[in-house]
Amino acid sequence: MNVATTPDRLLEALAGALGPAGLRTGAEIAARNCADAYGAAPTPPRAVALPRDTKGVSAVLRLCNAAGAPVVVQGGMTGLAMGAHPEPGEIALSLERMSGVEEVDRAASTLTALAGTPLEQVQQAAAEAGLMCGIDLGARGSCSIGGNVATNAGGNQVLRYGMARRNVLGLEVVQPDGTVLRGLNKMLKNNAGYDWTQLYIGSEGTLGVITRVVLGLHPRPEGVQTALCAVPDAASALELLGRLERRFGAGLQVFEAMWSEFLDLATGPLGLSRPFAEPPDLAVLVEVAMGPGEGATEAFAEGLGALLEEGVLADAVLAQSEQDRARLWAYRESPYEYGQLGRVGVNFDISIPRARMAEAVTGLRELRAAHWPGDPCGIFGHLADSNLHYIALIPPDEKNRQGSIDAAVYGLVRDLGGSVSAEHGIGKGKRDWLHYTRTPEELALMRQLKAALDPKGILNPGRVLR
Ligand code: ZN
Repeated sequence: MNVATTPDRLLEALAGALGPAGLRTGAEIAARNCADAYGAAPTPPRAVALPRDTKGVSAVLRLCNAAGAPVVVQGGMTGLAMGAHPEPGEIALSLERMSGVEEVDRAASTLTALAGTPLEQVQQAAAEAGLMCGIDLGARGSCSIGGNVATNAGGNQVLRYGMARRNVLGLEVVQPDGTVLRGLNKMLKNNAGYDWTQLYIGSEGTLGVITRVVLGLHPRPEGVQTALCAVPDAASALELLGRLERRFGAGLQVFEAMWSEFLDLATGPLGLSRPFAEPPDLAVLVEVAMGPGEGATEAFAEGLGALLEEGVLADAVLAQSEQDRARLWAYRESPYEYGQLGRVGVNFDISIPRARMAEAVTGLRELRAAHWPGDPCGIFGHLADSNLHYIALIPPDEKNRQGSIDAAVYGLVRDLGGSVSAEHGIGKGKRDWLHYTRTPEELALMRQLKAALDPKGILNPGRVLR
């Protein structure tokens, strides 16, 4: 029999279960389903399954599990760890057609959304109800809430609202054999046995497929004040953090650090104006919600003034308007413009114990001076969360150098007792470094969980664990 005419029984069954337009193959496969944001070469999957509802997801998984066919789970494709990037021969299960906020429950302060809903749409629905979603990150326009939860996403307000995990109250999950687990809990307290939902948060699609999410919402912060603060070094930044926490308590919303290399890129090739007359080694973007009422700006300025007098701060720029605020945030968001520099980024999202943050920055600088002195770098991150981002910008034709940069940076992370992933996850991109952060016993437990929940190993094979 001619191989080309052999009927593909699995694809026929999937097409039958999903209906017209529910399965794409060959030239119908969209570019977006062939690569995530990690930067690897696009790889078309065997087919893309596009269910409209949980029943469809269940049918896809049941059929693939019976056939032993590997499945890669896809959301907004903004992941940076190569978790949703297809391998040849995999069926891509995309949640993109399962989009929509189903309910905002004002009494419970919860929101229920389908997994494929873009984060920005979730944020808007919460705002329309006078509340706010605690999850926020730069990719908000294209990332999906299901992906945010599956990767336990972080972002810019984790110090106040926690990672995605802390915002989830309930989940609906489909297991690899098609079984639907419905735990759409809305109550803050629910200690009825194991909280299985926690297992799926941050599992990067390796244990089950999240189809619905219940989020706990928060009151909208009022009287938000923004400042860019110049500090002499990491120790002073941590002193500033402690002082702001004591003075403003839970009002402190944002504490984002940017070191001089990062500011040099922003104010040099990327063309932003210099924020300070005397360029500092470290600048911190701070936001504090002062609450409703008059005098918020004055009270905030007075608080910063006291820190200036004591020498905790070297300088500070306060936003007096929404335009000012956008201008200050533009520094923090300048990495989104790195594409203009004609180089590709080797990206790190590492955790370092706060007390060793200064050592980490010195270590990164020493590694660069010794091994990649000609490559511009950004050092920045969510300092309050112990999370550093490091981007080495290398020429596009030198991508083969990534392995040696990875080895050097992850070696430093291991030596400082840090984590190889603070918020982006492991996927395939960091899988080979996972043992720098987790013990053999922890890895064995992860393998036990994987074997118990996905016995045929069809879900996101090779992601997180080899
Ligand atoms: Zn981040």
